[in-house]
Amino acid sequence: MNKILLLLSAAACTLLACKQSGDKDKGQSLAAEAAFDNKDYHTQSNADSVKGTHLFLDIEVSFDTKMITGSALWDIENPYKKSQIIFDTKDLVIDSVFLDGVTKAAYTLGNPDSVLGTALNVTIKPENKSVKIYYHTTDKATALQWLAPEQTFGKQHPFLYTQSESIHARTWIPVQDGPGVRYTYDAKVTVPKGLMALMSATNPQQKAADGVYTFHMDKPIPAYLMALAVGDIGFKSIDDRTGVYAEPSILAKAYNEFTDVGKMVHTAEELYGPYRWGRYDILVLPSGFPIGGMENPKLTFCTPTILAGDKSLVNLIAHELAHNWSGNLVTNHTWNDFWLNEGFTMYFERRITEAMQGKSYTDMQWELGYQDLVATMEDLKDKPEDTHLRLNLKGRNPDDGLTDIAYEKGAHLLKLIELTVGRAKMDTFLTQYFNDNAFKTMNTKDFIDYLNKHLLDQNPDWKMKININEWVYSAGIPKSCPRADMERFVKVDSVAKKFTTGTKAAALPAVQWSTYEWMHFLRQMVTSNINLEQMKDLDQVYHLTQTQNSEKADLWYLLSIKTKYTPAYPAMRSFLYVTGREKFLQPLYKEMMKTAEGKQMASEIYTLARPNYHPLTQKVVDEIVK
Ligand SMILES: [Zn+2]
Repeated sequence: MNKILLLLSAAACTLLACKQSGDKDKGQSLAAEAAFDNKDYHTQSNADSVKGTHLFLDIEVSFDTKMITGSALWDIENPYKKSQIIFDTKDLVIDSVFLDGVTKAAYTLGNPDSVLGTALNVTIKPENKSVKIYYHTTDKATALQWLAPEQTFGKQHPFLYTQSESIHARTWIPVQDGPGVRYTYDAKVTVPKGLMALMSATNPQQKAADGVYTFHMDKPIPAYLMALAVGDIGFKSIDDRTGVYAEPSILAKAYNEFTDVGKMVHTAEELYGPYRWGRYDILVLPSGFPIGGMENPKLTFCTPTILAGDKSLVNLIAHELAHNWSGNLVTNHTWNDFWLNEGFTMYFERRITEAMQGKSYTDMQWELGYQDLVATMEDLKDKPEDTHLRLNLKGRNPDDGLTDIAYEKGAHLLKLIELTVGRAKMDTFLTQYFNDNAFKTMNTKDFIDYLNKHLLDQNPDWKMKININEWVYSAGIPKSCPRADMERFVKVDSVAKKFTTGTKAAALPAVQWSTYEWMHFLRQMVTSNINLEQMKDLDQVYHLTQTQNSEKADLWYLLSIKTKYTPAYPAMRSFLYVTGREKFLQPLYKEMMKTAEGKQMASEIYTLARPNYHPLTQKVVDEIVK
């Protein structure tokens, strides 16, 4: 998944000093290591003793009732001859349960837990081979977003998509829902005629006349990678293994943005070994999609906000592609080990980008990521344990762990390892790591053991220099955290200084700037005392209010709220009405809430925009705007 939460406005980034972790944390880190607990507290299933090994999902999607109805047939393995199998469900209605296709099964539902949902306990006998659960979803399903036609690009047909990570799969499928539990699946999905259905599996490239689609996933995956999308969707091939799905009205635009994706898959393979999932396709969703992208196997789901028209934001695809190694192939064992998915993926994403766009370009990504990390540390200053790479989310919602700690602190640790051992050794190590652990899970402790055995034991100095326990089990940013080469940003800094001290916008050498140079510049403007005249000057020369680049737009609107630059307000309102990407929404609503007139504007905008946002995003913005 792409970074989801910008916990703090970018404004704070450059003001904050790096928080260093000190000696006092060393004792804590040793204790945390000693007490390492590998249990997944976010599933109520008993998959460690009775396991669903293959799913046959037979469901019908109704836009009239906004309901998925059907059955989940699980092949089971019961080596210890247990008398019950337990599935996770949340806000699902269970209609009936059968054993081996014929015998009606006895089952009970546990007490509902607000985070974990309701355990479904099915009584079984040692000889039973399968459990079939008839069920339907409810309007509380947090994984599902049902869009009315007017919320799509085409405005003619409804649309449905799922977002299962972290533990939302259980709101649309009864499943043993933990990242450590893998299974293969087949599915038959019936949708209204004229619409296409797609899953994280082998996918159709044309609509089925009868609205019935079948899917097959022969590689074992965890439940958080279950995905479904239904809508008026077309397909365009990029090359013989990559292609783009999107609504017909944006398909050509999406295709033009992603023409280099075939090359990107080859680049990733050159780095860390073969892509093992067959096809790699991308589905561009309607604007309400709450996150940047989701690495659903064979079919990345992504936001349309990366369609900038100039390929400048396709690094998001590099991220989702990289997950096909770190995450989908070698999966974090529990959500406490989330950094093993996201830290590795950020590192891998930047290696792909470096190979395709060059080092100085990627150095800017590293530096912006470091700024995000510093901002996140400040935001979490009252919860230092949440800044450890290895988390303790027992009793909490695992979505609480979706911060830049996993992404950026994790990536910077891998960067430090690379700088310490050298790139050649690092790449050999990572390739072997993905091979040795393919289609398995990994926890933090086992990763450290593996790293030591296969790399760091070669040289005691490396171990000392990296001091991995400090990174994993202590708070803050370790002193050893590497920083990227700042060459291009130093130039931007000097331009920013000139502008804030009186140089006119037309005299700035900004026409050739990349998105990242603009982001760095605009982040500095947010923390400076830029005035209305300067805003007007910048806008007249660089047309920032009208930019089609969502990253630039978001920062420009943040700056506009702060300086009360009203000419940007209509464009900002339009942006907020249609864009559901949480990363962009949070800073804008938070900034508006700082003044009385801003609060009024936030309330007006949100009243109209709220129906377009995903239920999870609504929850987050409700908290800000309430
Ligand atoms: Zn990710």
